[in-house]
Amino acid sequence: MEQVQPQLPAYPTVFSLQGKLALITGGGSGIGFDIARCMVQSGARVVITGRREQPLQEAVRILADSGSGEQAYYVVNDVTERQSLNGLVETIETTYGPIDILVNNAGVNMKKPALEVTDDDFDRIVHTNLNSVFSLTRACAQRMMARKQGSIIMISSMAAYYGIDRVVAYAASKSAVEGMVKVLASEFSGNGVRVNAIAPGFIETAMSKTAMSGDPDRFARAMRRTPMGAFGKPEDIGWAAVFLASEGAKYITGASLPVDGGNSIGF
Ligand code: NDP
Repeated sequence: MEQVQPQLPAYPTVFSLQGKLALITGGGSGIGFDIARCMVQSGARVVITGRREQPLQEAVRILADSGSGEQAYYVVNDVTERQSLNGLVETIETTYGPIDILVNNAGVNMKKPALEVTDDDFDRIVHTNLNSVFSLTRACAQRMMARKQGSIIMISSMAAYYGIDRVVAYAASKSAVEGMVKVLASEFSGNGVRVNAIAPGFIETAMSKTAMSGDPDRFARAMRRTPMGAFGKPEDIGWAAVFLASEGAKYITGASLPVDGGNSIGF
């Protein structure tokens, strides 16, 4: 007997983010901005946050030009002010509608030998890259779980995959985020909320420029173990985020996707 195949969603509709609202922290520049750009191009509306208003204003202006109509908004917010995060989510949902996609992109790095890292240094990095990520994720996930749908994406790092010298607090924070992805995916899956990470390799942004500046040896080492032999572009992370947020990734949760030109498997 001939088997009847169920209808598949049309390509590229299955990767479309039409009708979705995404909250992207640190979306005014660097990787966060390109995640916003790719999501807008895929049909989503985006709310970007950051501490400085000027880059956010500029980013929204560019995003408005690249999309089809009013698709980008900003809210000035410092993710380290954890007591503000429930209010942030409340304000966004009241003003723009339910958040379907959360991208925890805002992050800070610090390059120092481990023995020179003070407790304050360590706490500052972990507070931004880990503690705030948990608080904002909890605030969004409570609402997503009630609605039985949502996609949460963490921006991890190669520093969570292998030992990179002089980034002890950063590596600790990103490794913990990877652990959080697995726990949250296991807890949230029953309520239709997926949780994944993207682990970028070396990507051309202000952060990587600072990490590499005046350190040609570090740059050469990074390139030596990157089979593609070049830094990635912020949009490479943007398209991966679109995929993970889309229906095309509906059976993917608890994963960490390296977007790294092969850096994580390079010799
Ligand atoms: P950038 O430094 O270029 O951008 C960071 C963004 O985060 C800025 O828009 C900044 O805006 C925002 N931000 C920083 N602190 C806060 C805060 N407390 N509250 C709200 N927003 C904040 O970094 P990248 O784009 O390179 O990095 C983005 C993410 O990707 C980070 O999580 C980083 O760890 C990760 N990553 C980057 C890699 C790379 O090679 N570039 C490699 C691996 C991971 P403002 O200053 O206005 O607040």
